[in-house]
Amino acid sequence: LKTKLPKVGTTIFTTMSALAQQTGALNLSQGFPDFEAPQALREALGRHAMAGNNQYAPMAGLLRLREAVASSVLLHRGVAVDPETEISIVPGATEGIFCCVQALVRPGDEVIMFDPAYDSYEPAVDLAGGRAIRLPLPAPEFQIDWDRFEQALSNKTRLVMINSPHNPCGTNLEPEALQRLAEFAERYDFYVCSDEVYEHLVFDGSHRSVLQVPGLRERSFAHFSFGKTFSVTGWKTGYCIAPADLTAELRKVHQYVAFVAVTPVQHALADFMEAEPNYAFQLADEYRHRRDVFLNALKGSRFTWTPSQGSFFQLLDYSAITDEPDTILCQRWTKEYGVASIPLTPFYETPPKSSYLRFCFAKTDSVLQEAAKRLCAI
Ligand code: PMP
Ligand code: GLN
Repeated sequence: LKTKLPKVGTTIFTTMSALAQQTGALNLSQGFPDFEAPQALREALGRHAMAGNNQYAPMAGLLRLREAVASSVLLHRGVAVDPETEISIVPGATEGIFCCVQALVRPGDEVIMFDPAYDSYEPAVDLAGGRAIRLPLPAPEFQIDWDRFEQALSNKTRLVMINSPHNPCGTNLEPEALQRLAEFAERYDFYVCSDEVYEHLVFDGSHRSVLQVPGLRERSFAHFSFGKTFSVTGWKTGYCIAPADLTAELRKVHQYVAFVAVTPVQHALADFMEAEPNYAFQLADEYRHRRDVFLNALKGSRFTWTPSQGSFFQLLDYSAITDEPDTILCQRWTKEYGVASIPLTPFYETPPKSSYLRFCFAKTDSVLQEAAKRLCAI
């Protein structure tokens, strides 16, 4: 078989979660909370399933959920978006990002993304027949090198993919980055795919969205995930916000990839967002606490780190301990010390010599403390 995705194998998240399960290790690898979503949200799902809200929703999503999203965007970002023409509910941000790339990228188009990059971006570009140009975010700041960026731009540049807060680095784009991107976007006429699924998990200041930036608002698709905000990653539901003309293109693809997101889940999210419009404001404090529990318990270990600025991921630098490759080391330490993590090299086209492992701190305090205790023994 001449495969269309020759470079793709099983994702590192599947591999490491499976190893954690086999070995009984604490699973700080794949990103998901080990605590429950709010009870009212879970009850609402049961209620809607029992009430018979189990058939197809409208293709773009339930209007009441899109209206709740529009209120939340106004509340958090001060931006008015039209729920009818600018918001689409999708079965996970992964699907939204995939549809956005398929809608825009034509054979031969170039798509700029930054390494380390979330694993679903490049395969989406490859399947569209585009060419991914992967530019490094140099460690340890992991910020865009604007000279290299400018050199990579050409009349073939169709799309630039950004992610802030960043998975796997736990960094946020520096405040002036979006402004610079807007200037380049106008000059070179490209679109922007902005992955903001960790928008509410920002530990200093607040998240800045492409939706808030004139020059980007008109040419961007912003992607979000209810899974992260409401601790329901398994519900696989998210949304994409883009201007009406771009949304129309996204929906053309979405209607043939998934067609709709799950109906009772959408009702449950709408109920919860209507009843608790301020829910997301507490998340930054809760997750900062989790990060600090983990890092405080790691004092005295041989790891070094810069505290995560956003997302629910913390990088630990192990260069003072060993120079083993990260992909081998994370498997060995999962088996020997009972803590599973994610190596960074799978997120790169050309991996630098990396000495980081990524740990998910969306975990209860006792799990974080026990994991840190085991890591201190290394
Ligand atoms: N982008 C990033 C950076 C992520 O970490 C995730 C998390 N899984 C996604 C997109 C996908 O989100 P979803 O589960 O809603 O598809
Ligand atoms: N986004 C999650 C992570 O980074 C994983 C989602 C998945 O397994 N595809 O860990």
